[in-house]
Amino acid sequence: MARMKTTTSIHLFSLANTLIPGGVNSPVRAFRSVGGTPLFLERAKGSTVRDVDGNAFIDYVGSWGPMILGHAHPKVVAAIRASASRGTSYGAPTPGEVGLSRLIRKAFPSIEKVRLVSSGTEAAMSAVRLARGYSGKDKIIKFEGGYHGHADAMLVSAGSGALTFGLPDSPGVPREAAKHTLTAAFNDIASVKRLLERNRNQVAAVIVEPIPGNMGVVPPAPGFLAELRTLTKRHRALLIFDEVISGFRVAFGGAQELFGVVPDLTVLGKIIGGGLPVGAFGGRKEIMDALSPVGPVYQAGTLSGNPLAVAAGIATLTELSRKGAYRELNAKADYLAEGMAGAFSASGVPTYTNRVGSMGTTFFQKGPVTDYVSARRSDTKRYAKYFHGLLERGIYIAPSQFEAGFVSLAHTKRDMDRTIAAAKAVLATL
Ligand SMILES: *Cc1c(COP(=O)(O)O)cnc(C)c1O
Repeated sequence: MARMKTTTSIHLFSLANTLIPGGVNSPVRAFRSVGGTPLFLERAKGSTVRDVDGNAFIDYVGSWGPMILGHAHPKVVAAIRASASRGTSYGAPTPGEVGLSRLIRKAFPSIEKVRLVSSGTEAAMSAVRLARGYSGKDKIIKFEGGYHGHADAMLVSAGSGALTFGLPDSPGVPREAAKHTLTAAFNDIASVKRLLERNRNQVAAVIVEPIPGNMGVVPPAPGFLAELRTLTKRHRALLIFDEVISGFRVAFGGAQELFGVVPDLTVLGKIIGGGLPVGAFGGRKEIMDALSPVGPVYQAGTLSGNPLAVAAGIATLTELSRKGAYRELNAKADYLAEGMAGAFSASGVPTYTNRVGSMGTTFFQKGPVTDYVSARRSDTKRYAKYFHGLLERGIYIAPSQFEAGFVSLAHTKRDMDRTIAAAKAVLATL
């Protein structure tokens, strides 16, 4: 088939490379793990993104999770416009912050108080500081392949770009900053138990993506999260759920609603900003009140609770709170998953798919994929071919094997039928 035109993207990328390290402002965007030139996007609407050369793609990246309503949703755009016309930042309390916090608390009963920040990284970093400050302990347990943003303490055996680039420990992270971060294996409760027992009364918190999405999607084994809750309680370590992806994605109340496990602190981001920069962390009142200005744990931000971002978040969560929204979203994801499963099995290409509702990953291997070690067995070269084949056919998926794909409320049956047909055609060439 005729190769698509990418001359403008190629030109912009070479220019960008002279100005921005690697030409990108976040590593995975650079297509390093699949090869080729990243496409420069300039507009998007509903399920479709468009690049600077006029190519259109059905989008399953969704800005890495936030765009659950699809791109440029009329209500979100209207909310941002209205907010912008009233000024973009005041550095003072606003009514919108109260509104978004109420919506978050309503969705997450475990969150009695919440603080808004500007990114998921900032939220996770602040939650960890709070857990340490509140408990007076320094050690943190995280999971191999779990990504909690790029703060020093969290950049140990991390997923997402860090995993793709094989840089679990980044230069520039002092050994001092990383040495308090212990790493367990996801879905392996014995590995957590061992660490808690060897570090008695020293562990401030266990931080976990309840449904990891940054080593590709890996669902928690039945009972794993509940056992984690029991174990952390017994050792008086706080349990932090990083629901930056799963929050408002797998259910209005996130993974904690879906699995019925109540963490002490929750980290949010992505969807709650409706495509603008927002993060949040919240939890039990007595823990949250350790934050400044009530308590001694310092945390602040010039643009925290930014009016535009909060307006986009409120519009998004309001739309998601409509009755049947998740039934509709999950039915779309079921439809796509069934069609794709048919395409994969007919092709004879070994694949293994993990999915929870509208987030999923197909790994190019026989599986099962239950943790970081098994995720790494994937054939990333084959994934790269699959990625480029789909791209040529107008389907945009993550440019890395170790990421989640997302279905949005804007995807239509026609979009998904086109996707399944494209996948069949590409799989036949692998
Ligand atoms: C994306 C992500 C983060 C970081 O959020 P940013 O807004 O990119 O800083 C943290 N945790 C998880 C689980 C994420 O997926």
